[in-house]
Amino acid sequence: MKGNDKDLMGRLVSLCKRRGYVFQSSEIYGGVGSCWDYGPLGVELKNNIRRYWWKWMAQMRDDVVGLDAAILMHPKVWEASGHVEGFTDPLVDCKRCKRRFRADELEGESCPECGGELTDVRQFNLMFRTQMGALEEAASDIYLRPETAQGIYVNFLNVLNSSRQKIPFGIAQVGKAFRNEITPGNFIFRTREFEQMEMQFFVKPGTDEEWLEYWKEERMKWYRSLGIHEEKVRIHEHGENELAHYAKEAYDIEYEYPFGWKELEGIHNRTDFDLKRHVEHSTRDMSYFDDTERERYIPYIIETSAGLDRTLLTCLVDAFEEEDVGKETRVVLRLSPRIAPIKAGIFPLVKKDGMPEIARKIYDDLKKYFNVFFDISGAIGRRYRRQDEAGTPFGITVDSQTLEDETVTMRYRDSMGQDRFKISELRGKLEELTE
Ligand code: ATP
Repeated sequence: MKGNDKDLMGRLVSLCKRRGYVFQSSEIYGGVGSCWDYGPLGVELKNNIRRYWWKWMAQMRDDVVGLDAAILMHPKVWEASGHVEGFTDPLVDCKRCKRRFRADELEGESCPECGGELTDVRQFNLMFRTQMGALEEAASDIYLRPETAQGIYVNFLNVLNSSRQKIPFGIAQVGKAFRNEITPGNFIFRTREFEQMEMQFFVKPGTDEEWLEYWKEERMKWYRSLGIHEEKVRIHEHGENELAHYAKEAYDIEYEYPFGWKELEGIHNRTDFDLKRHVEHSTRDMSYFDDTERERYIPYIIETSAGLDRTLLTCLVDAFEEEDVGKETRVVLRLSPRIAPIKAGIFPLVKKDGMPEIARKIYDDLKKYFNVFFDISGAIGRRYRRQDEAGTPFGITVDSQTLEDETVTMRYRDSMGQDRFKISELRGKLEELTE
């Protein structure tokens, strides 16, 4: 997708709806602000991205283990973390049209929508508050977590004592986070409910800068391994006035969306800020004893924090292409086979000579290992195009030659080229191509 093309964004949103990637939440009631639902293809893509992140960040590593903490946490967590006091955005209202804006995103001093006068800046806390317990009067205020990181910090000792890890090591987690954003928007880029894929890496103080460099590289490699266009991803260092309350040094991995360069993932050196604050507020000793060096310290933390929904959007934006083929335009989602929702479409060329039965048998065999799709309806060209638009990287077609030698064609979404393979080779071939 080319930069700065708002129309393209509109076309992508409509493709997402048409093909069952993303729907507006509660659409039959007019929708609800900045909430989105993932449809049949969207949920597959999201699961695949999540799984691929987990494989790279936890499964394949000896020094990272997983966690799945509750969304609701003790309210003191958010006092200790600084969120009650400091997780705010500066808010202004337009006195005329009543629209709300983030003061740090405005360029002038009047309303960008109607030119009206703006109120003074107020600090607005982004945490969603709710009550826990059946009786509202007796209930205590509790928050929906605004980041998954704190669930990892408060479990630091539990994981340390149960996993036989030694510093340096990390804890990975994927889960929902909630922020009452003042200006959500750009489709699923900024929403009020979203999923984060976070990894917190605990290191010895003094080694933190090296590890920060290491994780910056590692995370860039991950995006490259997803086939994201390299020229569209960059690292931006936070200046002093951009640094969050907990960070000593911070970088954003940014992507060039049609609406500009924006943060895709944050990589932060959170120092010992969080653990020290939890020591103070909980009075629990969260220090680590290094038995080779015979010393005790509170570890520093390097965080890699990516948005799952935002990564999904990035993959879609990056993969979306409209190309001229002959007289028509081919809409194609060039998603990496690693994460594509459907790995292969399986088609009988025509509805006769036993082709549907052979294709059905191939489908039944392959679906045990891959998400595949059987399609018998319409001209073969139309069936290929439907799968191109859905992002399916391979098409397997049973034709008259199949009846003679048990081979099928494999069509490649990106090149539209074709090869022939034995039916018995298909599983191995797909494994190789989608790994
Ligand atoms: P911003 O300054 O843009 O609000 P942030 O710096 O507060 O973002 P982080 O707290 O570093 O963001 O969050 C880590 C990651 O979580 C982001 O890089 C992004 O991918 C994702 N994320 C954060 N807020 C949202 C949101 N409202 N909607 C979707 N994803 C989000």
